[in-house]
Amino acid sequence: MVASPVEPEFRGARRRLVEALQDKGIKDLALLRAIDSVPRHLFVPPTVRHRAYEDSALPIGSGQTISQPYVHARAVEQLMLTGREKVLEIGTGSAYQTALLAQLAAQVFSVERYRDLLDRARGMLQQANARNVSLSLGDGTLGWREYAPYDGIVVSAGAPHVPPALEEQLAEGGRLLIPIGDKDDQMLTLYIKRGGQLERRDITPVRFVPLIGAQGWPG
Ligand code: SAH
Repeated sequence: MVASPVEPEFRGARRRLVEALQDKGIKDLALLRAIDSVPRHLFVPPTVRHRAYEDSALPIGSGQTISQPYVHARAVEQLMLTGREKVLEIGTGSAYQTALLAQLAAQVFSVERYRDLLDRARGMLQQANARNVSLSLGDGTLGWREYAPYDGIVVSAGAPHVPPALEEQLAEGGRLLIPIGDKDDQMLTLYIKRGGQLERRDITPVRFVPLIGAQGWPG
């Protein structure tokens, strides 16, 4: 991660966020280290930068939001990454979670449907020196077939059901995290592929922006 001139100002705040997440039950040490090192304040618009280390969602433009750190942490923790995995992320948004994943997995593939968000994400990830990330503009409900299967898939927008393309592109033993529900409230849901079937586990209630696409909500 490239040091920023404003960095020291935020280090204490970031450490307090890590402690708050530990208090809320996040245990994965590699993940906590990643949260301690990724400068979240650079991934949010300047107008909300002073709030970057609150445990809350914030607006990032195009009507989208960067998720609450606790929700990112709960989702990424469920992927149980060891550093060897290939991960697909749907909904790059601010690219903050992408930067976390880049530290925790071998390769990260991330799909976003808004060009302006993706362009900004590309710049951020270059600045963060995250060389193991590939970005694609398009409908993530269809996954990214070229690099499938994935050991982990994390969907950062709320869906009515599991998009069949994502189920197909999940490796055997792979873990898929996706908020499932209606447009306002969802359950962050973990699916593990065993014997070609998805086993389901509810993780925590969440509120994400809708997943819009051919196998999600209509646009
Ligand atoms: N993890 C991101 C979440 C951003 S909000 C962050 O914390 O910054 C969810 C993102 O999903 C938005 O950027 C939205 O544009 C994107 N999105 C919604 N439907 C999508 C789809 N079908 N394919 C790709 N991206 C999608």
